[in-house]
Amino acid sequence: MSTFQAPKGTYDLTPPRSATFLAVREAIAAPLRDSGYGYIETPGFENVELFARGVGESTDIVTKEMYTLTTKGGDQLALRPEGTASVLRAALEANLHKAGNLPVKLWYSGSYYRYERPQAGRYRHFSQVGAEAIGTEDPVLDAELIILADQAYRSLGLRQFRILLNSLGDKECRPVYREALQTFLRDLDLDEETRRRIEINPLRVLDDKRADVQKQLTDAPKLRDYLCDACKAYHEEVRALLTAAGVVYEDDEKLVRGLDYYTRTTFEFVHDGLGSQSAVGGGGRYDGLSEMIGGPELPSVGWALGVDRTVLALEAEGIELDLPYATSVYAVPLGEEARRVLFGVVTGLRRAGIAADFAFGGRGLKGAMKSANRSGARYALVAGERDLAEGVVQLKDMESGEQSAVPLTEIAAELAKRLG
Ligand code: AMP
Repeated sequence: MSTFQAPKGTYDLTPPRSATFLAVREAIAAPLRDSGYGYIETPGFENVELFARGVGESTDIVTKEMYTLTTKGGDQLALRPEGTASVLRAALEANLHKAGNLPVKLWYSGSYYRYERPQAGRYRHFSQVGAEAIGTEDPVLDAELIILADQAYRSLGLRQFRILLNSLGDKECRPVYREALQTFLRDLDLDEETRRRIEINPLRVLDDKRADVQKQLTDAPKLRDYLCDACKAYHEEVRALLTAAGVVYEDDEKLVRGLDYYTRTTFEFVHDGLGSQSAVGGGGRYDGLSEMIGGPELPSVGWALGVDRTVLALEAEGIELDLPYATSVYAVPLGEEARRVLFGVVTGLRRAGIAADFAFGGRGLKGAMKSANRSGARYALVAGERDLAEGVVQLKDMESGEQSAVPLTEIAAELAKRLG
């Protein structure tokens, strides 16, 4: 292993690709900000308890994928494997739900950690932008979140994604279904691990990817047939709202998702250009989670979209985001005196809000102009001894190649005018 290699299952974001990641985060956040979601940031780690209780003791995330550690002080911590439990914990701690303004709408962006087997699109460190709407049971809220995620993906130009939608029932009807499913599953020919799963998390068995398992599941009881009237009506309303908004979705009865806390509405965004790791985002309603972590009853709904996979989806669709160059002006000094003077000009431009960069290291004209080109700057400023003696700098339009002498005292105003 080379000394410079990032840990297994991780990678670094470096320019220029890193600019796409920033733009994706921004594109996902923008519709949320415009819709009343406030920004929240929580620690990168939490007490292990929170995830064990919140995400679920029986989930792969908690049993296999969590990075846990014991601090020198003896605290049991885990790097966060997902965002919802932390955000809800933080909202409860800050009493946001008591401010009298429900739902509490929050968005977040950050790093998450899961000890998974790395492959394309699946990493041990990844990045999500998420949204949570806490404390209100209203199908309009479920629809709002799905519509905003759809809007975010579309704003990036993505088209080859699909929305899968399901209802998992609530604390009235889900247990009845769970038992019916368990009774059915216990009679099947399954391996030990899957048999254990029947007892702790039977809905997850429906998610099994193996063909021989799927074949046995054809006649499994369907959650749809067990939904109570309230859940049915709720789900119909969400569907109608999405349809009215022109958002296309597919009903997917098999969609159960890997976390224990979901109730009623669940959804996933899948992209058809990504191979096996096709889920680019997902979420749903989690009416019981607050009580599971020791809080009051706070019906809530949220989602998390994966930034890494969204970038892969862009690449799969051949979409190049229209990212403006960071630098507008590039200064090229020729000689010691010019270095001081031009650096002063650059500092002045920056303070005036014009993005400017500088050829450092006293390089020659040719190399420095190459850097100016690479920076994407619209204008270059070149000055040597003679220019300074005349009190001017050469202003070069990098697109047309035109060059003219501009008095030092007027350069900021001239550039401001040209750059609009
Ligand atoms: P989940 O909480 O598992 O539904 O994850 C939500 C989204 O986060 C997924 O749809 C992925 O886009 C992303 N994600 C989850 N796990 C990983 C991972 N190991 N590597 C990359 N992205 C991930």
